[in-house]
Amino acid sequence: MHNDINRDLYEILGVPRNASPSEIKSAYRSRARECHPDVAHDDPDGEHKFKELTFAYEILSDEQKRGEYDAFGLEGLRRGAGVDFNGFSSISDLFDIFFGGGFTDPFSRGSRRRGRTDGRDMEVVEAITLSDVLDGTEREIELDRRATCSECDGTGLMPGTHMSTCSTCGGSGQMSTSRRGIFGTMISTQTCPRCRGAGQVISEPCARCGGAGVEKVNETIQVSIPPGVQRGDRLRVMGKGEGGVRGGSTGDLHVIVDIEPDSRFERQGTDLYTRAEVDMVDAALGSRVEIESLDGPAELRVPEGTQPGAVLKVKGKGLPPRYGGRRGDMLVRVDVRVPRKLSAREKKILQSYLEARKEKTRR
Ligand SMILES: [Zn+2]
Ligand SMILES: [Zn+2]
Repeated sequence: MHNDINRDLYEILGVPRNASPSEIKSAYRSRARECHPDVAHDDPDGEHKFKELTFAYEILSDEQKRGEYDAFGLEGLRRGAGVDFNGFSSISDLFDIFFGGGFTDPFSRGSRRRGRTDGRDMEVVEAITLSDVLDGTEREIELDRRATCSECDGTGLMPGTHMSTCSTCGGSGQMSTSRRGIFGTMISTQTCPRCRGAGQVISEPCARCGGAGVEKVNETIQVSIPPGVQRGDRLRVMGKGEGGVRGGSTGDLHVIVDIEPDSRFERQGTDLYTRAEVDMVDAALGSRVEIESLDGPAELRVPEGTQPGAVLKVKGKGLPPRYGGRRGDMLVRVDVRVPRKLSAREKKILQSYLEARKEKTRR
């Protein structure tokens, strides 16, 4: 934050208190150039400095306001303007209050007004299966997007032609009207509706894009989806969003992963849950049964005395984690299968099992 509301306006301009109007003007011009947004691109404080400087200049170049400031400091300006300064911590805040959007600054045909527009990011949803989550997959996504025009490279100009000065605003990018303001008559300005502030217009638009700088293209984009993704994961494909205009950067494409439900498996993190039927005799005696896993048949080891509803683990038959590592497990809930129909021989065997059981309890 800039807690510098008490900075001296003469100090900001770098002139002595008895400086002449022309000294003030030339001090402003040379300093304003240094911190102008077109020159000081990389100075994060550039805009703040520029506003501070311009505020100081606006006050000190006006005889009446300079007099109020000399006599009473900012308090004098506050009285003159009828503005409460509480809550403002910097001179550049005051700039906004005093001059707001209606101030024409002499250097303001800055780069940010030349129509440079960055392309927006785009999103697509791509549905994959659990098997794709296991192995990863390559997808081709067909996409309509607004790309930077290949003919004019986003300038909107017919190749070989140049921008010309906007005749509506005479190149200033702004239209002025005067109004009564807090310091008497003030010039209020609006952005020129024709050139939208750029001060320049396209005289011969690009034939391909009609001057828009972007064109619709239908593209097939290769996307590599890694193993272990979750529903809702976003994969970024750089530079495949909407195209930038007049030097703006191109956005990115975000592929949002959706995972189709699988009736056989339920996913929890890297583990998969499933069910398997086990014959009651296999459950009682213990056995190895073949069951289905995501990558083909797997062996389920059923221990002796397995109960209905028991959950058995098949190690390493789950899913891989997103950024590499060991696969999770498959957890199998056991449904014990009771035979509906028995042959005469099977019945006999089960009856003798029952006999044995009785003998055992009698003992
Ligand atoms: Zn074009
Ligand atoms: Zn204009």
